Amino acid sequence: MSARACPACGEVTDHRFRYHRNGCDIWQCARCGLGRADTRGFDPRAYYTGEYFSGARCDGYSDYPAAEPVLRREFARSVELIREYRGEGRLLDLGCAYGFFLQEAAPYYDVAGIELAEEAAAYCRRSGLNVLSGVADDTNMTRIGEVDVITLFDVIEHLPQPRDTLALCCRHLRPGGIIMLTTGDFASPVARLAGARWRLMTPPQHLWYFTPQSMRGIAASLGLSLVRCDHPGKLVPLSLILFQLRRMLGLGGSSITAASHIGIPVNLFDAMRIVLRKSIP
Ligand SMILES: [Zn+2]
Repeated sequence: MSARACPACGEVTDHRFRYHRNGCDIWQCARCGLGRADTRGFDPRAYYTGEYFSGARCDGYSDYPAAEPVLRREFARSVELIREYRGEGRLLDLGCAYGFFLQEAAPYYDVAGIELAEEAAAYCRRSGLNVLSGVADDTNMTRIGEVDVITLFDVIEHLPQPRDTLALCCRHLRPGGIIMLTTGDFASPVARLAGARWRLMTPPQHLWYFTPQSMRGIAASLGLSLVRCDHPGKLVPLSLILFQLRRMLGLGGSSITAASHIGIPVNLFDAMRIVLRKSIP
């Protein structure tokens, strides 16, 4: 046990050492279950490059652009769900990658994105999207202005200060606006059973491992109401499944582009989708 400040509990709590993975120590808050990777000398700017999305990194994506049709079908379903909560207005996607989600949302919203990988951000701009390079900091958020919807798809677990980023999002959200995010569920049976070998246990890429309880804690501390928390199934490119299987079996990464356009419905119930709403004063 070790005492650390938990961003979800908002105070110093006991943390349990769980395991060692990829040179990082994984610790878990004994109260809310939030997991964290202790990393030293990790530079995200050197890490999230074009290579991250093309399969050159064994823990990144396998050929993300080739999986566009499958990803877009999945994102279209997310747009439908978002419309149930906030039907119109301005939408901002953080970590928008190649802009596939923004393309699906564009018929219904005035869309914008922020993306750290320069190559992906430039691709978005060439596709006609309003996408800023960099991270969700004060400068970029001010340039974007107030929005009605902010989405973070499998992004929050990568952020050095996830609570601070959500606080910043909250300040730029219009009253009644929503934040939709997806991330792994560290409290799920699959995550508990798989332990250090869980498919989403990939430090230093993933720095945080959230639980429903830790997300509720963060939401409450920011004055956001948690209006949805579920574990939806997802269409996954077959190439990504093969890629993750090879990595799990220690065979190393190699991208199989032909399998990228085939979408397989998968639900391991180890990933959650959360909708937070900013109250109307
Ligand atoms: Zn905690």
